[in-house]
Amino acid sequence: MESSTRSQARICRGCWDQMHMPIPIRGPLALPFQAFGITRSKMNPNICTICERAFTFVKKQRHVSATASILFADMRGYTYLSEQLDAITLSAVVSTFQDQCAQAIWEHDGIVNKQMGDGLMAIFNFPIKAERHAAAAVRAAIEVQRRCGAALEGMAKRGVDTRAMPLGVGVGVHTGEVEIGEFSTFRSDFTAIGGAVNLTARLESQAAAGEILVSAEAAAQAPELVAGAAIRELSLKGINQPVPAHVLTVH
Ligand SMILES: [Zn+2]
Repeated sequence: MESSTRSQARICRGCWDQMHMPIPIRGPLALPFQAFGITRSKMNPNICTICERAFTFVKKQRHVSATASILFADMRGYTYLSEQLDAITLSAVVSTFQDQCAQAIWEHDGIVNKQMGDGLMAIFNFPIKAERHAAAAVRAAIEVQRRCGAALEGMAKRGVDTRAMPLGVGVGVHTGEVEIGEFSTFRSDFTAIGGAVNLTARLESQAAAGEILVSAEAAAQAPELVAGAAIRELSLKGINQPVPAHVLTVH
């Protein structure tokens, strides 16, 4: 699964970026940490499970404000697929989607924060810091489309009738202030909340199969990636003004 040298960090990149603490996550030095339950995170293999606690016990605060880029991706045509396929094949399709998305996100130092069946949410710039996190998120979105497009083509060859319903992935990317931390008293995992997260989810919901909708705020931070892209005015639930989004289509 881990192919590039970047994905083989020996210390947790999140703990290093946030606290300058070297927490070994690979090699013999990682073994004593593993004995205490500190292992590689499932959200990104280059961060550790301390990162998942959002540093609440290290920083002694329940959440932190951060500027981050958020990515939502969701399968289009999933309901149709779920009617066409048996449960085993359907779960294989969902696994392929989730795996391909995760690889694309990890390549650009994001974390897969939430997985919701046929959709997911990723965060860039926390806990691994990236000066150009909006560009990283857009590049990850392009890679999500490229990888999922190839996987879906493979599915069409396996006898799934893709003519009746366009299969693909819709992606939304936005950059803004979020609150990161634990917002539940009975689950010890962290997430990001705030208006920026809601806006990203709404962008994604408006993206057709194969499209990436990039907000003006994210586009301003990654101009080279949206140059020449069409701009679509979206009317989003709960927002009075039309919201412009740059439309990227990956072929
Ligand atoms: Zn860590």
